[in-house]
Amino acid sequence: MYVHHTVIVDPDVTDNEWQTLEEVKSSMRRLQQIRPDLGLDVPYNMVAFCMSDDELVLCEGRGVGRTGAHTRNHNRSALGIAFQGDFEDQALPGNIDAQLSAFAEWLRDLRNNQGFSKLGYSRPDDKQVWGHRDSPTASTACPGQNLYDKLTLIRFIDEEDDIAMDKSTWRIVQLALQAQNPPLYAGRAIDGKPGRYTHIAIRAFEKRMALEARGVIGILNNPAASIWPATRELLFVTAAADLIAE
Ligand SMILES: [Zn+2]
Repeated sequence: MYVHHTVIVDPDVTDNEWQTLEEVKSSMRRLQQIRPDLGLDVPYNMVAFCMSDDELVLCEGRGVGRTGAHTRNHNRSALGIAFQGDFEDQALPGNIDAQLSAFAEWLRDLRNNQGFSKLGYSRPDDKQVWGHRDSPTASTACPGQNLYDKLTLIRFIDEEDDIAMDKSTWRIVQLALQAQNPPLYAGRAIDGKPGRYTHIAIRAFEKRMALEARGVIGILNNPAASIWPATRELLFVTAAADLIAE
């Protein structure tokens, strides 16, 4: 998820605030014409307008179902959303904090309820969205320093997901589990996907560790939620055994 600004300002005193939906519509029509080389449509997936009545208006560009043309090398893997305005040289809208959290709520719904479960899967260390200028191949100030400084406010990933294992950590766990002797999972490949053998392995682990089955590890009827603590335990057990052996 990449955030941009369009560098198009409102020609009144509040450059980054918009007054009416008519203004929004004509701005969107203008954006359709702005890069004819990319096609006569709005190249961003969505465009956000900070309204002077404190509302946030989100307009569909290419929409969330189509590939945008906004961030080199990331158009297929990420959504690009532009805020209408110039957030480098002009002041932030008065209600920007609330508008960014409204935007975050929209993203949360997209992620949790609309099938965009990988939204935010790749993100910088300190934020849940990228600014255009975070892309290594971009030489741009986009989305402008003033907006960039506020990107940490866009938080849409639920806490438990936030602390779940990232891909590289999971890979380390996977390799550590795979290397155990005697082999776990009857020597089968550990693919990281919950399934029948995961279930068998969790049961076997519970039995081996004399845990009260179904009472201790994970969430009942949810193998996706139960595999993580189980594999973490296995890793700790292995580490402890190594320490004792030395
Ligand atoms: Zn940009």
